[in-house]
Amino acid sequence: MNPPIVRALRAIVGDAGLVVDETRRIPYECDGLAFERQKPRLVLLPGNTEEALGCMRILHEEGIPIVARGAGTGLTGGATPVEGGVVVGTARMRRVLEINVQDRYARAEAGLVNLDLSRACADDGLMYAPDPSSQMACTIGGNVANNSGGPHCFKYGNTSRHVLGLKIVTPEGELLDLSRPETDPEGLDLVGLFVGSEGMFGLATEVTVRLLPAPENVETVLAIFPDLDDACDAVSEIIAERWDPSALEILDRLTIQAVEASIYAAGYPAEADAVLLIEIEGSRAECDANYNGISAVLDRHRVIEARRAQTEQERKKLWAGRKGAYGAMGRIAPDLYVSDVVVPRTKLRELVRKSTEICSEYGLKLTNVFHAGDGNLHPNLSYDRRDSDELKRVLAAGDEIMEAVIAAGGTLSGEHGVGLEKRDQMPMYFSQPDLDIMLAVRAAWDQQQRMNPGKLLPIRACNEHMPFKGLNR
Ligand SMILES: Cc1cc2nc3c(=O)[nH]c(=O)nc-3n(C[C@H](O)[C@H](O)[C@H](O)COP(=O)(O)OP(=O)(O)OC[C@H]3O[C@@H](n4cnc5c(N)ncnc54)[C@H](O)[C@@H]3O)c2cc1C
Repeated sequence: MNPPIVRALRAIVGDAGLVVDETRRIPYECDGLAFERQKPRLVLLPGNTEEALGCMRILHEEGIPIVARGAGTGLTGGATPVEGGVVVGTARMRRVLEINVQDRYARAEAGLVNLDLSRACADDGLMYAPDPSSQMACTIGGNVANNSGGPHCFKYGNTSRHVLGLKIVTPEGELLDLSRPETDPEGLDLVGLFVGSEGMFGLATEVTVRLLPAPENVETVLAIFPDLDDACDAVSEIIAERWDPSALEILDRLTIQAVEASIYAAGYPAEADAVLLIEIEGSRAECDANYNGISAVLDRHRVIEARRAQTEQERKKLWAGRKGAYGAMGRIAPDLYVSDVVVPRTKLRELVRKSTEICSEYGLKLTNVFHAGDGNLHPNLSYDRRDSDELKRVLAAGDEIMEAVIAAGGTLSGEHGVGLEKRDQMPMYFSQPDLDIMLAVRAAWDQQQRMNPGKLLPIRACNEHMPFKGLNR
């Protein structure tokens, strides 16, 4: 990078906010989609909104493409740098700015780790509901950009339902202050548009979110099944019968084995074909009514045992197994491709089976751990990216699973976004007029299209409008 530009940026962020050294730039080459890599020209870590404004202004004047980055836990290549581009990360913007108990909202810097927000409001009896399984690492800003979900989003909805305001630095380096909490915004809902825009509209530096009263009681039930099909059918029936759990999560046999062999061992029985984690919340009476009703459904689906966690420690252990499952899969192979699709809940069993068939045809190791209540499947393919043939088979299987899901009335993504991974599959789900409108909206936020170019919107559809092509598979 041109030395005078680096000097000007250093004057804004200082040495702590600038990563120039080539070796120190390596960790920024990719996110969780590890086979897509590109080293950034430079990494900037502004310490606050003012510094971010200064950096973005300079990058605008120089016409340099930008990729925003939170913790890099994304699974679709959203935070993967683009050729010749600079990464602007939020790792030094992690403060909780306000907890407003009376009006039930919090303001935080975008780099705050999701779990730290829940911890910060716990003493006030409040909670921030969206809880991605990566919540001990991912940032609120990354959650906003990807409209992230999590186990409890079954009851509470994904991030978009909880964001009340944003402070955004535009690609031109101007401040767009929409941080005042608004439930029903006047005029066009710019905050709503920004949520889920995958880093293409600007850099969020502050986020205002809704807080909810923490439930009076929380109970976790571990249901053990002899067969994955039964677990899937039990979930469909729990919902059809209008019971009201806050989370319904399934782990299959291979996942259970990986978890139990790891430091996340939760006491899931290794001989089970599937376990279903059920969370129930509310008053004592609500918990009991839900537990009794759900137990009857489980019995109809051949449950071997349904065990209520007896202590808070036991409950936390059950969840640690679920939330550590991806880490545990490192025991199966060095790399993991986490697919993310949504199917109608009545078709859970059918699509889980179909993914299993597809993966076995390609000779791949498949594990399933998913937000069953939302119909949000995660067929996880373990592989070794040094084996190019295996990687090709992983991608081909991923495409076939997607085709099967769309044919069954499902959607492209439940929570991980599109990024690089599913960019070229967008036309499978959206028509050309849909994509044209998205493109026009994108251009309205970022005329030069320097923010995260080459992501989300398929290149062929966007060719005429895009000065930067970004990465190509
Ligand atoms: C083990 C594991 C479990 C996971 N479980 C879940 C889950 O249960 N639910 C779920 O939804 N996801 C899950 N994920 C995916 C991932 O954690 C989420 O997508 C998360 O929101 C990404 O946050 P991040 O801070 O790491 O963002 P990054 O990966 O750094 O970035 C993600 C996207 O957001 C953009 N971005 C980041 N910060 C900003 C900002 N301040 N302003 C504008 N754009 C920005 C980036 O450009 C990129 O496009 C999981 C990932 C892992 C590794």
